[in-house]
Amino acid sequence: MKKNIYKKIYKKIKKYHDIVIVRHVGADPDALASQIGLRDVILNTFSNKNVYAVGLPSSKFKYVGVLDKTCDINYKNALLIILDTPDKKRIDGADPSMFKESIKIDHHPFVEKISDLEWIDDTASSTCQLILDLIFHTSLQINDEIAKKLYMGIVADTNRFLFRYTSEKTFTLVSKLLQKTHIDFPSLYDNLYMRSLKEIKFQGYLLSKLEVTENGFGYVKITEEDLQKYDVDAGTAGNMIDRFNYIDEVYAWGFFAEDVKHENIRGYIRSRGPIINDIASEFHGGGHIYASGARFHDFDEVDSIIEKLDARCHTYCLEKDL
Ligand code: AMP
Repeated sequence: MKKNIYKKIYKKIKKYHDIVIVRHVGADPDALASQIGLRDVILNTFSNKNVYAVGLPSSKFKYVGVLDKTCDINYKNALLIILDTPDKKRIDGADPSMFKESIKIDHHPFVEKISDLEWIDDTASSTCQLILDLIFHTSLQINDEIAKKLYMGIVADTNRFLFRYTSEKTFTLVSKLLQKTHIDFPSLYDNLYMRSLKEIKFQGYLLSKLEVTENGFGYVKITEEDLQKYDVDAGTAGNMIDRFNYIDEVYAWGFFAEDVKHENIRGYIRSRGPIINDIASEFHGGGHIYASGARFHDFDEVDSIIEKLDARCHTYCLEKDL
């Protein structure tokens, strides 16, 4: 079945003249790069097709590439490809039932079936890794620009090849990518890792406010006042969550930032051991087993998840004899 999936996906891509590619709401570099990379590799291979990558643009990640503003096709004859999205409610900008056929390619744990053809590998480091795998198993034609995007997505989602799902396969595919194309990969890090001084100051503030429970759950509650003081937004906290890894006393951690625009609280949760995504799902969120998110109505709800995550850290410590 696995070997066939590349062929099956390629056949569908080949068959359709009109293709729309979407990803999850709240775009991140892996979601955007896989979406734009797949669009461009299809167009590079089949120049006569109409292929659109749509959804809300992200000014923060505009260096990844440009999305399509319009999508002037009849959906009833088109193929929809959903990337990096486990469930229907998280799709940004398309309803699969409006399309003739749909494909899902994702590395999140399975939540629900939303497409006719689904390729889910939750051991893959990133959706860009899956796209690269697809390209190298089919006649899709990569070029340097596409290679850059896919490389950025993999680097971003693995946090520079640091996270657990970075595997032999990740390195093999990246090695092949670097052999086949000529990308100056160190120059790509300027976009991914450059920060402003105010962000660094905010990071210092977060570190000073980090509360750690007896069982090793670390958290910071961030108010609108804090955000205003440092002139940053709720999303800035999310950009920093991975930098709080490898603190000896902290097994899992979360930032909970007031989001005035959406009138709720945005939670970013990470772990280096205890599983967290089932707890995030209980609060209408979700994600990967060690990287999840959710939105909360108020800080009382945030306190409830902190309690549950603390209990999960407690169980983890008992299991691991820590
Ligand atoms: P983030 O903390 O935004 O980097 O997200 C980490 C992971 O959790 C990603 O896989 C997201 O797709 C997922 N995630 C974040 N927020 C939500 C949410 N409200 N509902 C479901 N999944 C989410």
